[in-house]
Amino acid sequence: MKIFKRTKIKKYSKDGRILFTKEMKKEYTILIPMMLPIHFKFMKNILVKHGYKAELLNTSHSRIIEEGLQNVHNDTCYPALLVIGQLLDAIKSRKYDEDKLALIITQTGGGCRASNYIYLLRKALKKNKLEHIPVISFNLNGMEKNPGFMIRPSLLVQFVYATLYGDILMLLSNQVRPYEINPGETDRIVDKWVIKLSNELNGKSFFSKRNIKRNMEQIAADFAHIPVKKVDKIQVGIVGEIYMKYSPLGKNSLEELLAQEDAEVHIPGLMDFIIYTCDNRITDTKLYGINIIASFLAALLKNYLIRMQNMLIDAVKTQYIFKAPSSFDHIKSLVKGYIGTGVKMGEGWLLTAEMLELINSGIENIICTQPFGCLPNHISGKGMIRKIKERHQNANIVAIDYDSGATKINQENRIKLMLSTARLNLLKAADDSEAFLDNAQTR
Ligand code: SF4
Repeated sequence: MKIFKRTKIKKYSKDGRILFTKEMKKEYTILIPMMLPIHFKFMKNILVKHGYKAELLNTSHSRIIEEGLQNVHNDTCYPALLVIGQLLDAIKSRKYDEDKLALIITQTGGGCRASNYIYLLRKALKKNKLEHIPVISFNLNGMEKNPGFMIRPSLLVQFVYATLYGDILMLLSNQVRPYEINPGETDRIVDKWVIKLSNELNGKSFFSKRNIKRNMEQIAADFAHIPVKKVDKIQVGIVGEIYMKYSPLGKNSLEELLAQEDAEVHIPGLMDFIIYTCDNRITDTKLYGINIIASFLAALLKNYLIRMQNMLIDAVKTQYIFKAPSSFDHIKSLVKGYIGTGVKMGEGWLLTAEMLELINSGIENIICTQPFGCLPNHISGKGMIRKIKERHQNANIVAIDYDSGATKINQENRIKLMLSTARLNLLKAADDSEAFLDNAQTR
């Protein structure tokens, strides 16, 4: 009976993959692997508003890595192992009806292996006799299509806004949480805005630029009003491969460790990465003369996204206590003399630029998160550290490798070593400014 049910509604593409059909849209739950906790909550809510049943996976237990190791070759990218491990672990949790389940995964379409995670996932499903579960590719390149999952312009615009709101909430909560007097108050503000903005999704005001500006200024004001105890803390930037940099599962709850170590964390926003992918299309045309039409469209999209990002920067600047991010063009200009903008596999030159941007804004302590199996980001991350340190004497950067074989204790020891240097630098800076004030008074 079960087999009959399955074959009755299943449809297949010409290349033999199972399609996510319009009928499935109403009944199937789409599982979303976690990457950015705040952003992805919005994105899940957007999918729900568009009529999908969706669930965001919040799991982080060790069984996920075991599932990944059993089903993905261990020399592939560590993010693939974790994403696939998390999805398989959820399917096997018996929480869901596996005959009414679909999975979603991104396909970037670039030269990196991220475009191929979907094939590794299907292979893993087949190995577990779960190949009847459809996998949806989330891509903007027309790669894989499904009749039941359309990326309509309204959905895309809402995702752009979700990225903006996610970025500002992540940016400001990281700057306030370490100093809050009432524990949990920052996270309550984040939750309040996620609910408020998700409720606005269906209304016309969600698309109004005036409304976005007002919302973002109000968000900044809300965080500025949280009572804080302003003490000097070490500031630490986190950069790296996109999944490692953002996913708590990927980086072994690094932010929790840094909070215990009394540090303030800075993580660059997702919007920079999205603009970077548009910029890469333009670079392709400049360097190789290819994709002229795609480059023209990418330039239009890039300008639109930069205008949106400027709204975020202006909103943060309305509260002088916060550190506002720099514009994309400024970040890009920083890599001149370090790395060419034709280096665009993985995070490419953006990873170098993010380290330089942190240093320029006074955050000299940096953790560069590197997944096992990731050659491109080892070149533009770890590979650039020496050059950056040569030109920035106070840069205190540590590259941490993440993979299933790396012990957490080793990672933490290396991070703590970097933090002890950061603390010494902080004390030295305090002594220097005290000596400067003494000198000024005696003159
Ligand atoms: S950026 Fe690195 S980890 Fe990510 S897909 Fe590419 S090679 Fe793999």
